[in-house]
Amino acid sequence: MAMFSLHLPKTAARFGVRRTSVSANLVPPMEMWGQPLPEKIGSAPLDWRSLGFEYVPTKSHIRFAWKDGVWDSGHAFQDPYLPVHMLANVFHYGQALFEGFKGFHTKNGDVCTFADKLSWQRLSHGCRRFRMPEVPLEIWENAINETVRDNVSFIPPYGTNGSLYVRPFLFGSGPRLGVGPSTEYTFVVFVNPVGSYYQTDSGAMQALDGLVNDTYDRAAPLGCGDCKAAGNYAADLESMHAAKRLGYPISLYLDARERRYVEEFNTSNFVAITKDGRYVTPDAPRSVLDSNTNKVLQQLAVDLNLPVERRQIDFEKEVDSFAEVGAVGTAVVVTPIRSLTRGNQTWTFGEPKVLRELRDRVRAIQNGEVEDKHGWMRQIKLDDAPRDKTVLSVYPGL
Ligand SMILES: *Cc1c(COP(=O)(O)O)cnc(C)c1O
Repeated sequence: MAMFSLHLPKTAARFGVRRTSVSANLVPPMEMWGQPLPEKIGSAPLDWRSLGFEYVPTKSHIRFAWKDGVWDSGHAFQDPYLPVHMLANVFHYGQALFEGFKGFHTKNGDVCTFADKLSWQRLSHGCRRFRMPEVPLEIWENAINETVRDNVSFIPPYGTNGSLYVRPFLFGSGPRLGVGPSTEYTFVVFVNPVGSYYQTDSGAMQALDGLVNDTYDRAAPLGCGDCKAAGNYAADLESMHAAKRLGYPISLYLDARERRYVEEFNTSNFVAITKDGRYVTPDAPRSVLDSNTNKVLQQLAVDLNLPVERRQIDFEKEVDSFAEVGAVGTAVVVTPIRSLTRGNQTWTFGEPKVLRELRDRVRAIQNGEVEDKHGWMRQIKLDDAPRDKTVLSVYPGL
């Protein structure tokens, strides 16, 4: 009985659970539903090294409701379906914002989120722009802490290269026929274990060929491109699909007014390292999403004594000066861009040496392998007593 990749908890045997040899990400076998799993980091029966960026059912999520100007105290739920009124603003008038960051099991055994305060600030910015109530920092942090704690067995163990993706989202959930801000709001936090997306087994970074978008704009100059709004993603799908059909897995948007200045990739920021070693990234605070990863990388570039320039980037004038180009965001940190094509011209970039070094520094901080000088990591205490939770429904109970 030596060969199985399924990481079943030791106590599973006590419950008479049959151990089977399984290699893919899996939902616990039916016999295990309802069995109390020993709750410790990585004890969920998943193959940690084969995780991608796909939905994995976990134990619970947390929801807070806002009504008449106040937030309730939140409830944890196992059922992943939300009961939402059909007249909810989110379905008709699109009040929906989300966030995403990761939690890590670090080298010394702690569990920490990375830069979740920056996500909270960005969500608050979106709330003001979309006339939604802000989520107080205390609710934000408690919601994250409790969700992570309750799903501790789904935290990928240190050394597996995985992390616990945390997805908070907020939407207008109250019934109202006419246009206007919703009468009620729902704030949800769920977690999902993820692997290292777009990365090969050897840890090599997979480079992508990109297309410069000349048939779609991502964000109007004074629109809502600076908000992590669900609708911005819907608006990008057709253009993403069109680029993919032409063989480009990623596309780059230029400014909507002149289609001349670099803005960002579909769902990640644009960063270039120039041939003379400067870190350049667009400065377009009203139309480019303020990426937390980009902020972190800029700080680490400063630490490495690289000049950092946030400014307008004239694509055609400057593209030849770029040694490295990367698409940056939480999911992958840095995805190197091998080439960019516009019309019948293609520009090719070099090996991502500087970008790799910056990426490795971020990963080392996230893994707790080097000092977190800038205070991006926030520890979640796993042994805090869980407060009384109301589990209102169970589906499928893990
Ligand atoms: C989420 C997102 C990013 C990346 O932001 P991070 O905070 O680094 O994850 C970049 N661009 C867009 C449009 C996004 O939605």
